[in-house]
Amino acid sequence: MIKRNPTRAVRVGTVTLGAGHPVAVQSMCATRTQDVDATVEQAEAIRAAGGALVRVAVDSAKDVAALAEVRRQTKANLVVDLQESYRLAAQVAPHVQKVRYNPGHLWHHERHKPVRDKVRFLVEVARQHDLAIRIGVNCGSVDPEVKARFPEDDVAAMVASALEHCRYLDELAFDRYVVSLKDSHPRKVIEANRRFAEARPDVPLHLGVTEAGIPPEGILKTRVAFEQLLSRGIGDTLRVSLTLPNPRKHEEVTVGLQILGDVAAGRFRSVPVFDDDRLNIISCPSCSRVENERFVELAEKVKEMTAYAERHALTIAVMGCRVNGPGETDDADLGLWCGPTHVNLKRKTESLGAFGYDEILPRLRQELDALIAARPGATRGDVVS
Ligand code: SF4
Repeated sequence: MIKRNPTRAVRVGTVTLGAGHPVAVQSMCATRTQDVDATVEQAEAIRAAGGALVRVAVDSAKDVAALAEVRRQTKANLVVDLQESYRLAAQVAPHVQKVRYNPGHLWHHERHKPVRDKVRFLVEVARQHDLAIRIGVNCGSVDPEVKARFPEDDVAAMVASALEHCRYLDELAFDRYVVSLKDSHPRKVIEANRRFAEARPDVPLHLGVTEAGIPPEGILKTRVAFEQLLSRGIGDTLRVSLTLPNPRKHEEVTVGLQILGDVAAGRFRSVPVFDDDRLNIISCPSCSRVENERFVELAEKVKEMTAYAERHALTIAVMGCRVNGPGETDDADLGLWCGPTHVNLKRKTESLGAFGYDEILPRLRQELDALIAARPGATRGDVVS
C-alpha cells in the first residue's frame, strides 16, 4: 500500500480528488469544440475508457455555445481550459464542473489589471456555480515577474508561481482548488511536484508531463515521472499528454490507468532518470486549438525524419497552435509551431520564417544538420544519414 499525501478533498462534479480518494485519470478533447458531434463522441470515448474528467478548450463565444450543447449530450464531468480568455469563465461556468487557469496567461491578459483582481473574479464565478479550480502552471509559460526572480532555476519559478496563486485563493477563503506543475521533461516534473508537495502537503496535485509527444517515447517520459511521484504518495489526479490522432485520443486514459495499476502493484518499468543524452522530440497532445489537422502527421514525420540524429542531445519541439506554440518552443533547439497554412520554424527564440507543410521537413533537416555540424567533435558522418 502506498501512503498518499494528506491532501484535502476537492469535489469536481461526481468525482472527489485528494484525501485518499482513488487517483482520477483525465484527458482532454482534441476535436474542434464547435464540432459538437465530434467533441461529444470524444468525451464519451474518454469516459468509456475510464476518464473521470474531460477537459475542453474554449476560446470564443461560439465555443461557449457549442460547449452548452456538448454539456447537454454528455454526462462527463467537464473542465474548461481558460488560456487567454479568463473572462469567458462566467459564460462557461453553468456548463462545467471545473475551470483551469494558467497563472502565466492570466498575467499577460488585461495587463492593466492586478492579477489578484482577475483571480478574485474567477473565484467569484467558481463559488457562484459550484466549481473547482485548477491552478495550472506550465514551465514554458510562467508568469514573467516570477520567472525573473529565479533566472537560474525554472523549477523554483514554477513552484513559486503556484504557491503565490495558492496564497491568493487562500486569502479569498476558497479552498476548492488543485495545482499542476508541468514540464516536458520528467525530471523537472518530479522536482517541481516534490518541492510543491513539501511546501503544501494539503493541496491536491494534478500530475502531467506536458508535450510528452508520440508513443512509445511519450509514454516512457510520463511513466518515469509518474512512477517517481505516485510511489511517494504524490498525485491525486493525472493526465497523460500524448500526440495521438483523434480516434485514439482516449488511449491517454488507458495508459494512465495502466501506470496507476503498475505502481499500485509495485511493478516499476522505467529507468529512474530519463536519458538526457539523446535527441528529445517533444510535441503537444493537440486540442481544439490545433490550426491544421496535419499537425499529428507532421509530428510523426518529424520523429521519422530526425531518427538519424538520435544520439545527439538536442531538443525539437512541435506545437499545434499559436496560443502555446511561440512560447513553448523558446527553450527547444529547434521549434515548430503550426499555423493554418504554414509551419513556423524557430532556433531557440529566433524565428527562421514560416514554411508550407510540404516544405518544412527539408528546411528542418537543413537546420538540424547545421546544429549537429556545429557541435564539438562533429564529423561529416554525423549529418549524412
Ligand atoms: S500547443 Fe496549442 S494545440 Fe497544442 S495542446 Fe497546446 S493549446 Fe492545444
